[in-house]
Amino acid sequence: MAIRKIRTVGDRVLTKVCRPITESSPKIKELVLDMFDTMYEACGVGLAAPQVGILKRVVVIDTTGEDPHILINPEIVETRGEQTGDEGCLSLPGKSGQVTRPDYVKVKAFDINMKPFELEGEGLLARAICHECEHLDGIMYMVHVEGELHDNTVVEEEEEE
Ligand code: ZN
Repeated sequence: MAIRKIRTVGDRVLTKVCRPITESSPKIKELVLDMFDTMYEACGVGLAAPQVGILKRVVVIDTTGEDPHILINPEIVETRGEQTGDEGCLSLPGKSGQVTRPDYVKVKAFDINMKPFELEGEGLLARAICHECEHLDGIMYMVHVEGELHDNTVVEEEEEE
């Protein structure tokens, strides 16, 4: 297990469409473990493989610190409702912005042994699933931000330039 370098905005790897995984392998298992390590180290709730420079359709999510999910080749198959709230990304450190997402999503994916499964998420988990799946198509949350991005470290000081 190892911490990998998180790619940040400006790195072209974040704009690419990732390739599906065709079979489980020790390399993929190592990637997933490294992605969890890297995400927890950075205090994130989700991480997609392109964020560590790997153009494969792999996502890890843990919105509570005790609820780890591995999504391989994820595909959102159902969405309901709407939530608007602050969203950030480990590839754009220190920033966040208001994004409206579905309040419920159902995603089909494969687990680490390439067994298909479904995951349903509400609230933050739904938001994280949407955010991470978009990374696999080279899309970042800034395209959805309503208004301006703001600085995470500044609380309730919207006048600051
Ligand atoms: Zn992100």
